[in-house]
Amino acid sequence: MNNISSQIGNTPLIYLEEVSKITDCNIYGKAEFLNPGLSVKDRAALSIITNAEKRGELRKGGTIVEGTAGNTGIGIALVANSRGYNVKIVIPETQSNEKFETLLALGVELIKVPAVPFSNPKNYQHVAKKIAEEEMKKNPNGAIFADQWNNLDNMLAHYETTGPEIFSQTNGKIDAFICSVGTGGTISGVSKYLKEQNPSIKIGIADPKGAAMYNYFHNNTIAPTEGNSISEGIGLGRVTPIIDEIEKIDYAYSIEDSDALPYIYDLVKNEGIILGGSSAINIAGAVNLAKDLGPKKTIVTILCDHGSRYQSKLYNTKFLKDKNLPIPDWLRS
Ligand code: PMP
Repeated sequence: MNNISSQIGNTPLIYLEEVSKITDCNIYGKAEFLNPGLSVKDRAALSIITNAEKRGELRKGGTIVEGTAGNTGIGIALVANSRGYNVKIVIPETQSNEKFETLLALGVELIKVPAVPFSNPKNYQHVAKKIAEEEMKKNPNGAIFADQWNNLDNMLAHYETTGPEIFSQTNGKIDAFICSVGTGGTISGVSKYLKEQNPSIKIGIADPKGAAMYNYFHNNTIAPTEGNSISEGIGLGRVTPIIDEIEKIDYAYSIEDSDALPYIYDLVKNEGIILGGSSAINIAGAVNLAKDLGPKKTIVTILCDHGSRYQSKLYNTKFLKDKNLPIPDWLRS
């Protein structure tokens, strides 16, 4: 059927010219910003909903509840609207306005909550779970908590689609894959698939400052690194069932926003690609990995979402100045 769900995935692999040149490697970005919801999370949303339907948990008129930094909510809303489900989204109030506006335009019930740590019962993920449990009791058409951090259908999306696409788009000639971790769905699903095809493919993670995955995979401790990245949708602080599925991370990097952002500004100006902050962390990670692996390697990373989602932040001089971040020449006034 040629509905919106059929347009999710099968994204192109784009050759990133400048970073390939400076590293003497071939660095490719999987263009997830070309999904209908403009992000990689459309894949997880589709997999979570389709598998819940298969288990008989949702019927027309049913409700999907999720805690999300935004992109998963947008993906869920697209698929849900096309299949007759209601959507309730709980989101930290620190996310970009562009995400709130998109979610409201899609007609979801949006519940904004203060951004508090996961250990606080008022954290958006706990609030979403509670709302989902109430909804399950009262909706005769069924309700689900999408639960992207614990739901292995999230990882499955990348094991079944993103990983195989990358392997076939590189004709199996891929030396390494690297990306950042939000829920870990992408890294865990893609790495599982790639290592099954060829165990010598190296896997890396690119972690923003303030997250805990760098120490987890580099030092086997679960302490966050110092700092507070402005990147949205990534930066996990705990080990989840999805992270537990990862067999091996060969390289881990902890990356500063100020080192990463210039890569996406360069892509805007010289390669015509407009990306969000997590893609910057990913590309910086790919550059670090290229340096560690040596020349002539083929490395793939994820271009997670479209920059239009961060117009008021990453592409706004005042925001960048206030955060003491690099400002691209053409935005200086
Ligand atoms: N980048 C962005 C912008 C995201 O929204 C997310 C997911 N929250 C990710 C990267 C990370 O993806 P995953 O959840 O599969 O680790």
